Amino acid sequence: MYPTVSNLSTAPREAAMSHPLQLEAEVLKLRTKHPFIIARGGQSDYRTVWVRLRDGDGNEGWGEAAPTRFYGETPESVLSALDLYAGAMPADPFDIEESERRWHLLLRHNPSARSALSAALHDLVGKRLGIPVYRLWGLDPAKAPQSTFTIGLDTAERMRAKVLEAGQYPILKIKLGTDRDVEILRTIREATDREIRVDANCGWTVKQTIAMLPVLREYGVTVLEQPLPPNELEGLAAITRRSDIPVIADESCLTAVDIPPLVGKVDGINIKLAKCGSLREALRMIAIARAHGMMVMVGCMIESSLAITAAAHFTPLVDIVDLDGAALLDADPFVGAAIDNGRVTLPTGPGLGVRRR
Ligand code: MG
Repeated sequence: MYPTVSNLSTAPREAAMSHPLQLEAEVLKLRTKHPFIIARGGQSDYRTVWVRLRDGDGNEGWGEAAPTRFYGETPESVLSALDLYAGAMPADPFDIEESERRWHLLLRHNPSARSALSAALHDLVGKRLGIPVYRLWGLDPAKAPQSTFTIGLDTAERMRAKVLEAGQYPILKIKLGTDRDVEILRTIREATDREIRVDANCGWTVKQTIAMLPVLREYGVTVLEQPLPPNELEGLAAITRRSDIPVIADESCLTAVDIPPLVGKVDGINIKLAKCGSLREALRMIAIARAHGMMVMVGCMIESSLAITAAAHFTPLVDIVDLDGAALLDADPFVGAAIDNGRVTLPTGPGLGVRRR
């Protein structure tokens, strides 16, 4: 099934004509190779929104919104939000800080919609200057840590097959938060001696997590992501005190304001553009986390190489990379950052450097 791009909206959405930057949005249909199941469910079919901002000279900046119901967004809500944001487009794409502030004030929440606009502005600025965004930020792409590859929940037999299929990836991320977590870990460990990190996606209690800590240690797990529901910060603190495996907050940490309450309670935070709403906010979060001596991870949703490439641009600043969203797809409509063998390679073209496949 390829290409998987289809225009579900009735027509390209044009921005208000009085603004030089024109906005178009289009829904992309994505399909994962295998159903992608985590503790709170999952599926094979996903929809994201491809955003294009065009200036008067015909330059285009691209971004992608990967909405999730868990964070209150759908492709339809993204399109509605974009209709509103289209009325507040900057005349100058370099006006990034003020544009992001204006959009946030105009309609709060809707982070994936705003992150697509943020990526598109950065892309457009890089293209206007003829340099990659990471060069604009003064970053060396060779400094990016290796990315994990996620093995979603499945039967023992199919999880073994997925581990073999992911043979080129040196670090695996295992989804837990079920009533058969020990069995899953044993299955994976018997199938491979590669590094394993786990994500319980809010699926455990404090008691369950503390009982799991020796098991995680036994199977050589190196990172524990979000064992508890988002608001259980004291519980996270109790776990972190007992754990010699770093505990990373994902669902508990959406934007920069979530970091101070987590200081001393977890070892690190997981930044995703679809949660924080902008590339600039991601950079602020990295700075704030570093000021508190916290580890920084960058993660993703199920999304194409367009959104993955935007997030990949700040990988030289983080400790843990989990950008397998596009690698899990059956067909990726874009070519951008590659995570072959777990190694993150950023494109060398201007802006985000992404093109249609
Ligand atoms: Mg996670």
